[in-house]
Amino acid sequence: MKGPFPKISVVLIIVFLIPAVSYTVFEINSLSEDEEMIKEIYNNQLDAILFSVNQSSNDLAESWSKKILAQLDTISKDSDLDFRKMLEESWSLNAIVLFNDVTLKECGIYFKSDTITRDSYLSQLKKNLLTNRGKVDKLKGFMENGYRKLEPLGHIGLGERNFYIDNLLVFVLDQDQDFFQYAGILIHPQYFIEQGLAAKIQAISQEKFIIAAINGLDNSVVYATEPTPDNLKGQKRAFWLLPDYYLSIILKGKTMETLVQERATTNILLLIGLNLALFAGLWLVYRNLNKALQLAQAKSDFVSNVSHEIRTPLSLISMFAETLQMNRIRDENKKKEYYKVIGQEANRLAGIVNKILNFSKMEADKRVYHFKNEELNNIVDDVLKIYEYHLKNNDFVYEIIKQQDNLPVHVDRPAIEEAVINLIDNAMKYSGENNSIIIKTGTDGEFAYVSVKDHGIGISKSDKMHIFDKFYRAGKGEIHNTKGTGLGLSLVKHIVDAHKGKIDLISNLGEGSTFRILIPKI
Ligand code: ADP
Repeated sequence: MKGPFPKISVVLIIVFLIPAVSYTVFEINSLSEDEEMIKEIYNNQLDAILFSVNQSSNDLAESWSKKILAQLDTISKDSDLDFRKMLEESWSLNAIVLFNDVTLKECGIYFKSDTITRDSYLSQLKKNLLTNRGKVDKLKGFMENGYRKLEPLGHIGLGERNFYIDNLLVFVLDQDQDFFQYAGILIHPQYFIEQGLAAKIQAISQEKFIIAAINGLDNSVVYATEPTPDNLKGQKRAFWLLPDYYLSIILKGKTMETLVQERATTNILLLIGLNLALFAGLWLVYRNLNKALQLAQAKSDFVSNVSHEIRTPLSLISMFAETLQMNRIRDENKKKEYYKVIGQEANRLAGIVNKILNFSKMEADKRVYHFKNEELNNIVDDVLKIYEYHLKNNDFVYEIIKQQDNLPVHVDRPAIEEAVINLIDNAMKYSGENNSIIIKTGTDGEFAYVSVKDHGIGISKSDKMHIFDKFYRAGKGEIHNTKGTGLGLSLVKHIVDAHKGKIDLISNLGEGSTFRILIPKI
């Protein structure tokens, strides 16, 4: 019976399992690729936003540089340069310096406020310029190529407090004017961000992002589109013009990371669910196919089993009938014996045919039970009266143990008789060498029971699960050396179920079996 199953498994695996597993692996792979792509697109978008903030800060600084250049253009060498208006107009602009080289030997410096000590400021400025000499020198090269670069040179420290830290931007002046070669713009970074850029940042954030400007020196938030913790874990980009500062941006509400993570988790869960459903479906298909094939196999075994079982009595009957017909037997005793055999074999045939008829009624749900109040010991006694001869004739010894006298039950008597006969019949058929049977009646809780115990071949664990199935016979049809149809126990079970009873079985291979029918007491 096991033959076709590996084939089905292979087919199921090839048709369903391999594609499903490959699809899952492919999906999981492409899922992470998709996520990488989404992340990249998102990061690029954030980058673009931060770029535009930087662009506006550049525009602002360039507007100052242009104003300075314009003043230098319009003013003659003798008249005084006056940047006061410009300094007053721009909150964040603290000072403007014009110089010829980084040593500041020749220079002009213009402050917004007088409070700043000119000398110490200049010395800090000089320090900065000297360390950045290379960068300053390169500016000329850029200019020769037609590009006036605004070079951020970081802060010039005037004490510990932020207020006095100005950021320096240097650019090259036009060659045709006679004043100086370079100009420096000194801006207060915090004001620059708060006043020059805040509106722009707010507009860019569109309520969808949180953008923050952070002072990298102490990681404090200088400005943010909404209240933000200092350790904002967003994408970071440096301020082009303020090297100590950086911009950070995150998606409002959930971060992209969590969104992507959530999407991935949902997708993976869906895939797992899909696969589980598929596996469950496959298992069901496999189980049903398995059952259908088993049944088909059992049916074909059944046909050969029934043919076998019918053939012996038929040939015996025809043989003895022929002999009798020919009048060859003179001895009356012998004749009687032959008639008896014919009778017995005819009964056996009738028994098989009845079993099949009852089974087909049971299958068509047409078996009708007529319940009456009966006494179980009585029923068992009657069965044994009929079977006694049969048992003895086959060299069986049996014992009947009645644990209780009165076992009233509400049953269809012929059906219960049929069930008990089936059990005794099986006990005889599967007894092997040990021909002793014990029949017992008694009560167990709400039930009255009759049990049939043999000391025969027993039933394996795996067969126990199937012997009540229709057509099922332990072992293979052909090699089964005891005749049978595989219908007996399924009939017994049907009868017991119709009586709302139970059937239990204690059996081990080689150690005999005890079948017990339990019927509710009245
Ligand atoms: P049949 O006896 O006609 O094959 P049954 O439905 O009565 O069909 O029994 C089903 C199977 O259960 C039998 O083929 C046999 O293998 C096993 N079986 C039933 N009763 C016994 C028993 N008393 N001892 C061992 N095996 C049994």
